[in-house]
Amino acid sequence: MTGAPFADPIDRASLIVNRDDAHAYDAVVPPIVQSSLFTFPSYEELEATFKGEKVRPIYSRGLNPTVQQLEAKLAALEATDEAIGFASGMAAISSTVMTFVKPGDRMVCVRHIYPDAYRLFETLLKRWNIAVTYVDGADPEAVEAALAGAALFYIESPTSWMMQAHDVAALAVLARKHQVLSVIDNSWASPVFQQPITLGVDLVLHSASKYICGHSDTVAGAVAGRAELIADIRSATCPYLGGKLSPFEAWLLLRGLRTLPVRMRAHEAAAMTTAGRLGEHPHVTAVHHPALGKRLPRGLQGTSGLFSFVLGNGVDIPTFCNQLRIFKMGVSWGGHESLVMPALVTLVQAAGPNSAVDFGVPERVVRLHIGLEGVDALWDDLNAAIRASLKRTRS
Ligand SMILES: *Cc1c(COP(=O)(O)O)cnc(C)c1O
Repeated sequence: MTGAPFADPIDRASLIVNRDDAHAYDAVVPPIVQSSLFTFPSYEELEATFKGEKVRPIYSRGLNPTVQQLEAKLAALEATDEAIGFASGMAAISSTVMTFVKPGDRMVCVRHIYPDAYRLFETLLKRWNIAVTYVDGADPEAVEAALAGAALFYIESPTSWMMQAHDVAALAVLARKHQVLSVIDNSWASPVFQQPITLGVDLVLHSASKYICGHSDTVAGAVAGRAELIADIRSATCPYLGGKLSPFEAWLLLRGLRTLPVRMRAHEAAAMTTAGRLGEHPHVTAVHHPALGKRLPRGLQGTSGLFSFVLGNGVDIPTFCNQLRIFKMGVSWGGHESLVMPALVTLVQAAGPNSAVDFGVPERVVRLHIGLEGVDALWDDLNAAIRASLKRTRS
């Protein structure tokens, strides 16, 4: 990447082809190296590789050429040295966090992070005597007070469900001041709209199942950052937790990256229009969208298709969900399809021993992902569903 002529990470990522044979037969789409193991031409090369004198694939739980190609592109997109592909966003989150905290440590975390990350911290990490202090990321004094003596600062911006967009650069300054390693979940903005490393954050996490994939057909994750931090993750947790991305999934993500900037701009425009219209709807009491009536914080260069809103008491939420025709009820987001998720169901979620863990989203919040269908058809769908779900009042 050194000496790359392009300042824009998207331009830079398009130059990355990390092996001469990545486009074998001049195929415009790189082949999938669907192999679990890689053989050695000599004892000497085998020994040099095991000694670490030579870096080359041994076994696909470590390195795989297709996965490496994706990793190089993700690192370039996030304007940093290296990345690791994981089998899910949660594999990226757990492997990264568990590399940098140990029993007796305390983490600081902004409120309303992704619910399963929250449950990881509240269950597994608690069991290992790792404490977590939750802070309002918009309150610098509270953040600073919590950071003193902490081992790791976990940021998500904008936050899940409540869509609170933080001043990530300011949070990174506070983390540096207290010598706390900072980590951010950048799934919502994608590297197209936010490059947290350039804002001073140490490590960037992705649920690549969302926008990086972009087609709702795989579950995947990634972490990106400075070479020495990525080396720590590679040696401390990756081989043993073992949640490595597979070559076929990496190939799907390489496919997704080709249209990422175009898709992000389309999601942004359609979601802005829809959020604005909902904001004026008489049965909507609030819209949680980082750009609606607010200026975006420094470093957030655009918005995506995911936001939430609050339905007034006159609307029956289950009926509203049932009445939608284009919007489908479903978790996740980032693909072509528009989706709806009511916070109500997260409150009754049966997550085994974790079900008591409440991450504090009010029950009348409804989350939307605005996909790539026609924006006016989506609006008609929402409008009709609200109208059809008004509770009857006696007059
Ligand atoms: C979905 C999601 C995750 C978890 O990713 P998986 O790929 O589902 O494991 C993490 N963070 C955010 C913000 C997400 O939306």
